[in-house]
Amino acid sequence: AKKAVLGPLVGAVDQGTSSTRFLVFNSKTAELLSHHQVEIKQEFPREGWVEQDPKEILQSVYECIEKTCEKLGQLNIDISNIKAIGVSNQRETTVVWDKVTGEPLYNAVVWLDLRTQSTVENLSKRIPGNNNFVKSKTGLPLSTYFSAVKLRWLLDNVKKVQEAVEENRALFGTIDSWLIWSLTGGIHGGVHCTDVTNASRTMLFNIHSLEWDKELCEFFGIPMEILPNVRSSSEIYGLMKISHSLKAGALEGVPISGCLGDQSAALVGQMCFQDGQAKNTYGTGCFLLCNTGHKCVFSEHGLLTTIAYKLGRDKPVYYALEGSVAIAGAVIRWLRDNLGIIKSSEEIEKLAKEVGTSYGCYFVPAFSGLYAPYWEPSARGIICGLTQFTNKCHIAFAALEAVCFQTREILDAMNRDCGIPLSHLQVDGGMTSNKILMQLQADILYIPVVKPSMPETTALGAAMAAGAAEGVGVWSLEPEDLSAVTMERFEPQINAEESEIRYSTWKKAVMKSIGWVT
Ligand code: ADP
Repeated sequence: AKKAVLGPLVGAVDQGTSSTRFLVFNSKTAELLSHHQVEIKQEFPREGWVEQDPKEILQSVYECIEKTCEKLGQLNIDISNIKAIGVSNQRETTVVWDKVTGEPLYNAVVWLDLRTQSTVENLSKRIPGNNNFVKSKTGLPLSTYFSAVKLRWLLDNVKKVQEAVEENRALFGTIDSWLIWSLTGGIHGGVHCTDVTNASRTMLFNIHSLEWDKELCEFFGIPMEILPNVRSSSEIYGLMKISHSLKAGALEGVPISGCLGDQSAALVGQMCFQDGQAKNTYGTGCFLLCNTGHKCVFSEHGLLTTIAYKLGRDKPVYYALEGSVAIAGAVIRWLRDNLGIIKSSEEIEKLAKEVGTSYGCYFVPAFSGLYAPYWEPSARGIICGLTQFTNKCHIAFAALEAVCFQTREILDAMNRDCGIPLSHLQVDGGMTSNKILMQLQADILYIPVVKPSMPETTALGAAMAAGAAEGVGVWSLEPEDLSAVTMERFEPQINAEESEIRYSTWKKAVMKSIGWVT
């Protein structure tokens, strides 16, 4: 094969819920040259609570940068070719830190966390039934999922946060803000910013005016001075300044010029730039986003309206409809960490293959309630249809099937809202390396599932945004050479009737999971 010409390089930090990665791409061919990945701890201090350590997250970014640079060195690739860095991140996860000491004032409250359920119930009572201004301004239902209520909880319950706010030392951010502030110098002049896609997940951001919304901040009781500056997804925010870390310091002075929430980044990385193009990402959760162009479309079927991207200060904003599923890969991690029936996530495929069916067992992993299309905080996980015959392989299979059924539900909602059914599904994310899952998904949707051979589309999207930024200009968003990108297709193999029967049994199981807690 012809060896690709090495153009300018672009790095991407991909800070996910389960792991952190740093990846380096060739800007001319979108080829992935090297990367490193570190798993992130999740703490569950109480039932329903999910936290992460912001310093561990930051440390994992340094470690990934260092290791990737080392690997590039071994490949004789000069890291001074890295011309820009993009950031993509788990969305909604909330951090408050002290701008004087640089210390986080509490753990990061992760998007999956349910501690704010009563806060949400109380706030809901204050919204008049026929005037849902939160939804019309933000595109989001009032839910524990989004940052505003997590921040409200921190302000109400953490003394250090209250003191820092009073003394004007507190900064709020989602993970992108925390990382960019730290990587651009932290207490020595770090830049406190976020991009429109991340801002659109806080429930404080007006997605029409593209500004923090005063009325929403009042409603949630959030002091506006702790919020980051909102920028586009592709512009120079600041330069890397991490002198205390020797090797990561190799990237000193490189501009950070791309920032997108992970799902938006994947949409860009999959090149879904046209109205009606969609992708589904299978990570900790599962997120189907459909580009709706410059139109802000409101769903009648439980989907969110969110910002897709804005690739440059003077560029127009694009919107998306989103179907969010809280638990996808997390159910595999749960089978590994809590039940111990597998030792690694990959092993799930072997178990599922052994039986090739769930044998009538259905697993609704509603660990954090149900998100789209139900938005039912009262749901909890159930495994049903068990008999004496059921074994761990059937449960493994049912867990994979659950991910596919949940996707089917959001795809159905998307098709109803958009009017034109998708002819195929573009997919990516950590779980898509599982071939059984991909085949099952094609069978359950009854349309082909198409997966790029380079699965790191989230990082690619962040790298594209960084490389295309004004003042960097090393990446064309209409690349001429995409020879590095090939696709794998999974065609439906079972008949539609069989697929429908399984799907309707799944719905029965979902109904049993709803209303479990009151
Ligand atoms: P995130 O971006 O949310 O951190 P990733 O896209 O990195 O997630 O995917 C990681 C998730 O995918 C984990 O929850 C893991 O359990 C799951 N996963 C990884 N490999 C497999 C596999 N072969 N089969 C099923 N699930 C997998």
